Amino acid sequence: MLIGGIEAGGTKMVCAVGDENGAIKDRVSFPTRQPGETFEDIIGYYRNWDIKALGVGCFGPIDLNKDSDTYGYITKTPKAGWEYFDVVGTLKKALNVPVGFDTDVNGAILGEVTWGAARGAESAIYVTIGTGVGVGVYVNGGLLHGLVHPEGGHILLERHPKDTYKGRCPFHGNCAEGLASGPAVEERWGKKGVELADRDEVWEMEAYYIAQALMDYIMAYSPQKIILWGGIMHQEKLFGMVRKEVLHMLNGYVAHKQILENIDTYIVPPALGEDPGILGAIKLGMDALA
Ligand code: ZN
Repeated sequence: MLIGGIEAGGTKMVCAVGDENGAIKDRVSFPTRQPGETFEDIIGYYRNWDIKALGVGCFGPIDLNKDSDTYGYITKTPKAGWEYFDVVGTLKKALNVPVGFDTDVNGAILGEVTWGAARGAESAIYVTIGTGVGVGVYVNGGLLHGLVHPEGGHILLERHPKDTYKGRCPFHGNCAEGLASGPAVEERWGKKGVELADRDEVWEMEAYYIAQALMDYIMAYSPQKIILWGGIMHQEKLFGMVRKEVLHMLNGYVAHKQILENIDTYIVPPALGEDPGILGAIKLGMDALA
Protein backbone atom coordinates (compact mmCIF):
# COMPACT_ATOMS: atom_id res chain seq x y z
CA MET A 1 0.00 0.00 0.00
CA LEU A 2 1.36 3.42 -0.93
CA ILE A 3 1.01 6.46 1.32
CA GLY A 4 2.13 9.99 0.54
CA GLY A 5 3.99 12.20 3.00
CA ILE A 6 4.74 15.91 2.66
CA GLU A 7 7.18 17.87 4.79
CA ALA A 8 5.85 21.35 4.09
CA GLY A 9 8.46 23.97 4.90
CA GLY A 10 8.82 27.69 4.34
CA THR A 11 11.61 27.23 1.79
CA LYS A 12 10.92 23.78 0.30
CA MET A 13 8.25 21.12 0.08
CA VAL A 14 9.58 17.59 0.36
CA CYS A 15 7.10 15.10 -1.11
CA ALA A 16 7.56 11.37 -0.67
CA VAL A 17 5.78 8.13 -1.35
CA GLY A 18 6.27 5.29 1.12
CA ASP A 19 4.61 2.22 2.51
CA GLU A 20 3.09 1.26 5.86
CA ASN A 21 6.47 -0.06 7.06
CA GLY A 22 8.12 3.30 6.68
CA ALA A 23 10.07 2.42 3.53
CA ILE A 24 10.39 5.44 1.23
CA LYS A 25 9.94 4.51 -2.47
CA ASP A 26 10.39 7.93 -4.03
CA ARG A 27 10.83 11.56 -3.11
CA VAL A 28 11.06 14.96 -4.76
CA SER A 29 11.49 18.49 -3.50
CA PHE A 30 9.83 21.67 -4.78
CA PRO A 31 10.79 25.22 -3.79
CA THR A 32 8.06 26.95 -1.77
CA ARG A 33 6.71 29.85 -3.84
CA GLN A 34 3.15 31.17 -3.87
CA PRO A 35 0.64 28.53 -2.70
CA GLY A 36 -1.08 28.14 -6.10
CA GLU A 37 1.99 27.22 -8.12
CA THR A 38 3.59 25.26 -5.26
CA PHE A 39 0.53 23.04 -4.82
CA GLU A 40 0.21 22.60 -8.58
CA ASP A 41 3.64 20.88 -8.48
CA ILE A 42 2.73 18.81 -5.41
CA ILE A 43 -0.60 17.64 -6.82
CA GLY A 44 0.97 16.88 -10.21
CA TYR A 45 3.53 14.68 -8.49
CA TYR A 46 0.99 12.64 -6.52
CA ARG A 47 -1.26 12.16 -9.56
CA ASN A 48 1.42 9.76 -10.83
CA TRP A 49 1.14 7.52 -7.76
CA ASP A 50 -1.70 5.36 -6.53
CA ILE A 51 -1.58 6.60 -2.94
CA LYS A 52 -4.31 5.58 -0.49
CA ALA A 53 -3.78 8.49 1.89
CA LEU A 54 -1.56 11.51 2.41
CA GLY A 55 -0.03 13.10 5.51
CA VAL A 56 1.35 16.61 5.89
CA GLY A 57 3.77 17.89 8.53
CA CYS A 58 3.41 21.61 8.00
CA PHE A 59 5.14 24.87 8.93
CA GLY A 60 2.91 27.00 11.07
CA PRO A 61 1.02 28.36 12.68
CA ILE A 62 -1.76 26.03 11.54
CA ASP A 63 -5.32 25.20 12.61
CA LEU A 64 -5.58 21.66 14.05
CA ASN A 65 -9.03 21.97 15.59
CA LYS A 66 -11.29 19.64 13.60
CA ASP A 67 -14.40 21.59 14.66
CA SER A 68 -13.02 24.84 13.30
CA ASP A 69 -14.06 26.40 9.95
CA THR A 70 -10.39 26.81 9.14
CA TYR A 71 -9.22 23.31 10.13
CA GLY A 72 -6.30 22.29 7.93
CA TYR A 73 -5.35 25.88 7.10
CA ILE A 74 -2.12 27.73 7.65
CA THR A 75 -3.30 30.63 9.81
CA LYS A 76 -1.78 34.01 10.57
CA THR A 77 1.66 33.79 9.01
CA PRO A 78 3.90 36.66 7.94
CA LYS A 79 4.80 34.55 4.87
CA ALA A 80 3.35 36.51 1.94
CA GLY A 81 0.43 34.84 0.18
CA TRP A 82 0.12 31.95 2.65
CA GLU A 83 -2.12 33.48 5.27
CA TYR A 84 -5.27 31.34 5.65
CA PHE A 85 -4.32 28.96 2.85
CA ASP A 86 -6.34 25.72 2.96
CA VAL A 87 -3.71 22.96 2.81
CA VAL A 88 -5.91 19.96 3.68
CA GLY A 89 -8.90 21.07 1.57
CA THR A 90 -6.75 21.76 -1.49
CA LEU A 91 -5.12 18.30 -1.35
CA LYS A 92 -8.34 16.42 -0.56
CA LYS A 93 -10.23 18.05 -3.40
CA ALA A 94 -7.50 17.37 -5.96
CA LEU A 95 -6.44 13.85 -4.89
CA ASN A 96 -9.57 12.48 -3.22
CA VAL A 97 -7.77 10.62 -0.42
CA PRO A 98 -7.81 11.02 3.39
CA VAL A 99 -5.32 13.69 4.48
CA GLY A 100 -3.60 13.73 7.89
CA PHE A 101 -2.30 17.07 9.10
CA ASP A 102 -0.10 18.29 11.93
CA THR A 103 2.84 20.56 12.66
CA ASP A 104 6.23 19.74 11.12
CA VAL A 105 7.72 19.03 14.56
CA ASN A 106 4.79 16.86 15.66
CA GLY A 107 5.32 14.95 12.41
CA ALA A 108 8.99 14.47 13.29
CA ILE A 109 8.31 13.10 16.78
CA LEU A 110 5.65 10.80 15.34
CA GLY A 111 8.24 9.45 12.88
CA GLU A 112 10.74 8.82 15.68
CA VAL A 113 8.12 7.22 17.95
CA THR A 114 6.92 4.94 15.14
CA TRP A 115 10.20 3.88 13.54
CA GLY A 116 13.07 5.66 15.26
CA ALA A 117 14.87 6.42 18.52
CA ALA A 118 11.68 6.89 20.58
CA ARG A 119 10.05 3.64 19.47
CA GLY A 120 7.93 2.22 22.27
CA ALA A 121 7.83 5.48 24.24
CA GLU A 122 4.50 6.68 25.61
CA SER A 123 5.84 10.23 25.87
CA ALA A 124 8.68 11.81 23.92
CA ILE A 125 9.64 15.14 22.38
CA TYR A 126 11.46 16.24 19.24
CA VAL A 127 13.40 19.47 19.59
CA THR A 128 14.87 21.17 16.53
CA ILE A 129 17.44 23.95 16.83
CA GLY A 130 17.88 25.35 13.34
CA THR A 131 16.46 28.28 11.38
CA GLY A 132 13.90 28.35 14.18
CA VAL A 133 13.43 26.39 17.37
CA GLY A 134 10.49 23.99 17.46
CA VAL A 135 9.21 21.24 19.74
CA GLY A 136 7.00 18.32 18.75
CA VAL A 137 5.26 16.76 21.73
CA TYR A 138 3.95 13.20 22.00
CA VAL A 139 2.29 12.50 25.37
CA ASN A 140 0.48 9.43 26.68
CA GLY A 141 0.43 7.87 23.23
CA GLY A 142 -0.76 10.83 21.16
CA LEU A 143 0.39 14.11 19.65
CA LEU A 144 -0.25 17.17 21.80
CA HIS A 145 -2.36 19.97 20.31
CA GLY A 146 -4.37 22.13 22.71
CA LEU A 147 -5.76 25.62 22.28
CA VAL A 148 -3.65 26.05 19.13
CA HIS A 149 -0.52 23.88 19.32
CA PRO A 150 2.51 24.01 21.60
CA GLU A 151 5.17 26.57 20.61
CA GLY A 152 7.98 25.30 22.78
CA GLY A 153 10.55 27.31 20.82
CA HIS A 154 9.24 30.51 22.37
CA ILE A 155 9.70 29.77 26.06
CA LEU A 156 11.65 32.50 27.79
CA LEU A 157 15.21 31.78 28.88
CA GLU A 158 17.52 33.33 31.40
CA ARG A 159 20.30 35.17 29.64
CA HIS A 160 23.86 33.93 29.82
CA PRO A 161 25.78 36.40 32.04
CA LYS A 162 28.15 37.22 29.15
CA ASP A 163 25.47 37.58 26.47
CA THR A 164 24.66 41.12 25.40
CA TYR A 165 22.83 40.14 22.21
CA LYS A 166 19.26 41.48 22.07
CA GLY A 167 17.74 38.28 20.71
CA ARG A 168 16.40 37.40 17.30
CA CYS A 169 12.70 36.86 17.98
CA PRO A 170 10.69 40.02 17.13
CA PHE A 171 8.02 39.03 19.66
CA HIS A 172 10.10 38.10 22.71
CA GLY A 173 13.83 38.75 22.27
CA ASN A 174 15.04 36.30 24.88
CA CYS A 175 13.01 33.23 24.00
CA ALA A 176 14.74 29.96 22.96
CA GLU A 177 14.36 30.80 19.26
CA GLY A 178 15.50 34.36 19.88
CA LEU A 179 18.69 33.28 21.65
CA ALA A 180 19.64 29.83 20.33
CA SER A 181 18.45 29.47 16.71
CA GLY A 182 20.92 29.41 13.82
CA PRO A 183 20.14 33.02 12.79
CA ALA A 184 20.62 34.13 16.42
CA VAL A 185 24.07 32.51 16.52
CA GLU A 186 24.99 34.18 13.23
CA GLU A 187 23.78 37.62 14.28
CA ARG A 188 25.38 37.43 17.75
CA TRP A 189 28.83 36.32 16.56
CA GLY A 190 28.83 37.80 13.04
CA LYS A 191 29.46 34.41 11.35
CA LYS A 192 27.52 31.28 10.56
CA GLY A 193 27.63 28.40 13.06
CA VAL A 194 29.76 26.22 10.75
CA GLU A 195 32.42 28.95 10.64
CA LEU A 196 32.50 29.13 14.44
CA ALA A 197 33.23 25.44 15.06
CA ASP A 198 36.47 26.07 16.99
CA ARG A 199 35.16 28.93 19.19
CA ASP A 200 34.44 27.29 22.56
CA GLU A 201 32.59 30.31 23.99
CA VAL A 202 30.02 30.08 21.16
CA TRP A 203 29.09 26.48 21.98
CA GLU A 204 29.29 26.93 25.72
CA MET A 205 26.66 29.68 25.44
CA GLU A 206 24.60 27.61 23.00
CA ALA A 207 24.66 24.57 25.33
CA TYR A 208 23.59 26.82 28.22
CA TYR A 209 20.50 27.95 26.30
CA ILE A 210 19.57 24.58 24.82
CA ALA A 211 19.95 22.88 28.21
CA GLN A 212 17.68 25.44 29.87
CA ALA A 213 15.01 24.77 27.27
CA LEU A 214 15.37 20.99 27.65
CA MET A 215 15.17 21.27 31.42
CA ASP A 216 11.88 23.15 31.07
CA TYR A 217 10.49 20.51 28.69
CA ILE A 218 11.60 17.73 31.06
CA MET A 219 9.78 19.44 33.92
CA ALA A 220 6.64 20.18 31.90
CA TYR A 221 6.22 17.04 29.75
CA SER A 222 8.30 14.38 31.54
CA PRO A 223 9.39 12.80 28.23
CA GLN A 224 10.88 9.30 28.21
CA LYS A 225 13.12 10.31 25.31
CA ILE A 226 14.35 13.62 23.90
CA ILE A 227 15.26 13.70 20.22
CA LEU A 228 17.45 16.74 19.60
CA TRP A 229 18.25 17.87 16.07
CA GLY A 230 18.36 20.76 13.59
CA GLY A 231 21.23 22.53 11.80
CA ILE A 232 22.89 23.74 15.02
CA MET A 233 23.05 20.18 16.42
CA HIS A 234 25.26 19.14 13.51
CA GLN A 235 28.06 20.51 15.76
CA GLU A 236 28.44 17.07 17.30
CA LYS A 237 30.30 18.14 20.42
CA LEU A 238 27.18 20.04 21.47
CA PHE A 239 25.40 16.82 22.45
CA GLY A 240 27.89 16.10 25.24
CA MET A 241 27.88 19.73 26.38
CA VAL A 242 24.08 19.90 26.45
CA ARG A 243 23.75 16.61 28.38
CA LYS A 244 26.26 17.78 30.98
CA GLU A 245 24.54 21.14 31.36
CA VAL A 246 21.10 19.52 31.68
CA LEU A 247 22.39 17.32 34.52
CA HIS A 248 23.94 20.35 36.17
CA MET A 249 20.76 22.46 35.90
CA LEU A 250 18.41 19.67 37.04
CA ASN A 251 20.66 19.32 40.07
CA GLY A 252 19.36 15.85 40.91
CA TYR A 253 15.74 16.95 41.14
CA VAL A 254 14.35 14.42 38.64
CA ALA A 255 15.58 11.26 40.33
CA HIS A 256 15.22 8.75 37.51
CA LYS A 257 18.08 6.56 36.37
CA GLN A 258 17.34 7.33 32.71
CA ILE A 259 18.55 10.85 33.46
CA LEU A 260 20.99 10.32 36.32
CA GLU A 261 22.81 7.30 34.85
CA ASN A 262 21.88 7.08 31.17
CA ILE A 263 21.61 10.60 29.85
CA ASP A 264 23.62 9.57 26.75
CA THR A 265 20.65 7.46 25.65
CA TYR A 266 18.09 9.99 26.91
CA ILE A 267 19.04 13.05 24.83
CA VAL A 268 19.84 11.69 21.38
CA PRO A 269 19.90 12.59 17.69
CA PRO A 270 17.15 11.05 15.51
CA ALA A 271 17.58 7.40 14.55
CA LEU A 272 15.94 8.22 11.20
CA GLY A 273 18.74 10.56 10.11
CA GLU A 274 17.30 13.45 8.13
CA ASP A 275 13.98 11.64 7.61
CA PRO A 276 11.93 11.82 10.83
CA GLY A 277 9.75 14.59 9.37
CA ILE A 278 8.97 12.89 6.08
CA LEU A 279 8.40 9.48 7.70
CA GLY A 280 6.20 11.11 10.33
CA ALA A 281 4.17 12.69 7.54
CA ILE A 282 3.65 9.22 6.03
CA LYS A 283 2.48 7.97 9.45
CA LEU A 284 0.07 10.93 9.63
CA GLY A 285 -1.33 9.69 6.31
CA MET A 286 -1.63 6.12 7.65
CA ASP A 287 -3.47 7.41 10.73
CA ALA A 288 -5.84 9.45 8.54
CA LEU A 289 -6.68 6.31 6.58
CA ALA A 290 -7.28 4.29 9.76
ZN1 ZN B 1 9.83 34.14 20.59
